[in-house]
Parts: sequence; C-alpha cells; structure tokens
Amino acid sequence: MPEPLFKRLALIGIGLIGSSVARIALANGNIAGEVVANARTQATLDRVTQLGIAHRVELDPARAVAGADCVMLCAPVGAYAELAEAIAPHLAPGAIITDVGSTKQSVIRDVGPLMPDGVHFVPGHPMAGTEYSGPDSGFLTLFEGRWCLLTPPPGTDEDAVEKIAELWRRCGSMIEIMEPAHHDKVVAIVSHLPHLLAFTICGTADDLEDESRQQVLKFAAAGFRDFTRIAASDPVMWRDVFLNNREALLEMLARFTEDAQAMGRAVRWGDGEYIEDKIKRGRAIRRSLIELKQA
Ligand code: NAP
Repeated sequence: MPEPLFKRLALIGIGLIGSSVARIALANGNIAGEVVANARTQATLDRVTQLGIAHRVELDPARAVAGADCVMLCAPVGAYAELAEAIAPHLAPGAIITDVGSTKQSVIRDVGPLMPDGVHFVPGHPMAGTEYSGPDSGFLTLFEGRWCLLTPPPGTDEDAVEKIAELWRRCGSMIEIMEPAHHDKVVAIVSHLPHLLAFTICGTADDLEDESRQQVLKFAAAGFRDFTRIAASDPVMWRDVFLNNREALLEMLARFTEDAQAMGRAVRWGDGEYIEDKIKRGRAIRRSLIELKQA
C-alpha cells in the first residue's frame, strides 16, 4: 500500500461529505495516518465516535487543526469566514488547507486572505452528493467515478495542488482544474438552479388549496417525486450556496425564466414543433450523461 499522503487530516465539519472522506481515509489507510473530526455540536461528534469513523474528535476547531498537515473545510460555506478566522493562528507551517464547498469565488474571498504565509490553500469541490446530511449519511463510494474540481488561485504551490488532486484520486475521483468564476457558472446551471427549481416547485405545490395539496401527495407522479428528492436537501447548506453564488445563480435563473416563458408561449399557441424540439434536446442530454457515466 502506498504511504499515507498526510500524517494528520483534520476535517472541519463531518456531515455527508466530511464523513465520506473520513470513512474512505480510515478504510484505505493511504490518505492520512490520523483523522481528526470537528463539528459545530458535541452531539455530532458523539455520533462520529459511535460510528468509529475518526481517530479523534475535537469540538474546538483550533485544537482540531493543531499539528495537522492537511485541513479540509467540510462545513456549509456560510460558516467558512468565521472558521478560517478561528483556525488561522493554529495552522501548522507548511500545512495544506482545502475545502469541499459548492461555491468557489466566495470561499477564495472568505478564506484566502486569512491564511498565514507558508500555508497552502487549495480550494476544491467534489461533484458528488445526495439529499442526506449528517455523519450517518456518508459512504465509501460517494466520490467513485465523480469529478472533483480544484480552483487554485494563481501562484498556488503546485505540489500542494498535486497532493490534494491525489487525495481525491485515492477517493475514486477524476480531477479537473478550473478557474473559480467559471466553476461558479458551471455549477449554477448543473446544480444550483435545479435545486432552486425543486425547492420552488415543492413550495408552489404546498401553497395549493388544501384538497389539491393532498392529491399532489397521494398521486405524486415521477416528475414531482423526483423534485421532492432534491428538495429534501439540507436547508442551511443550500441557503449558504444560493447566497454565496448569487450572481451566477441569478444569471442562470434569468436565462431559464426566458426559456420557460418561451415554452409557455409555445404551449399557449399550440407550437408543437417547438415543444417537441425542446423535449428531444432534453432526451439527448440524458443520453450523453449516461454515456459519460455521470447519470
Ligand atoms: P452536512 O451533512 O449538513 O454537514 C455539515 C457539517 O458541518 C456538520 O458536521 C456540521 O456540524 C458542520 N458545521 C456546520 N456549521 C459549522 C460551523 N459553524 N463550524 C463547524 N462545523 C460546522 O453538509 P454536507 O452535505 O456534508 O456539506 C458540507 C459542504 O460540502 C458544504 O460546503 C457543501 O456546499 C459541500 N458540498 C455538498 C454536497 C452535497 O450534495 N451535500 C456536494 C458537494 C459539496 P453539526 O452536525 O454539529 O451541525
């Protein structure tokens, strides 16, 4: 087995993503010699201890990062600024700090300036997830065959970037290096807008008259049911994502609204050709995803 990449990995936040990394690190043994877990509440850390998915738990983030050669932020992105401030003075010289947050420009804005000289900051985003959260929801194969996007700011130490890339390869991911603004636009359309639509459609259904609402639940067909799965995601995590990718999300929403209105117009005027063309494009996208093994 190859040497572990790091002596000590500190996971700040240990929900779906953090606990999946922890499980993989413990199972593989080739990522870190020691895994330390931090969370906001003692209850989560007690659960982590019960599950046996970290070598050590620490409620104080400063104590969690002390002596760690790799620190991974796995909390909601809205908590990053405060966390970075709390851990910055305690980071070991030469340590690599990385993250898994779903937005990248905001993370670079909130965390970057607080990092001490000699600490390497490599922002990242594993493109894998489910609608579940908390330490029970993580699993060993979450990142297998999924992309992990790294968005190192210019001048980032190349060895540090390569070590984080290797960490994700050892979790089963493929790596792509991306410019942070481009990342935020891409994820706005492939992830953030679909979640916004799911939350909205469930809200719309919930606002219906009592009788219709009950029928929605009783007869929930595949379309609505699929939206409810996405809408079951963690409220704090998604609130933070929307507020920290505001511009890109609003841009995609504006484009979508125009297209939805065009579709509505085609329905109103009986433009079957337009409707059929859009549906064909949807089917083609689905087929491509299946071919790319990302469905
Ligand atoms: P999660 O399951 O809700 O877990 C969040 C973890 O962060 C919990 O351990 C929580 O502790 C901790 N936390 C919350 N606020 C904190 C604070 N102020 N200080 C320290 N820890 C704090 O979330 P997740 O789904 O793993 O998401 C974590 C990150 O991954 C987010 O930034 C998200 O954008 C990103 N991400 C998520 C997905 C996805 O599909 N879920 C995919 C890719 C990336 P307590 O349990 O004690 O509250």
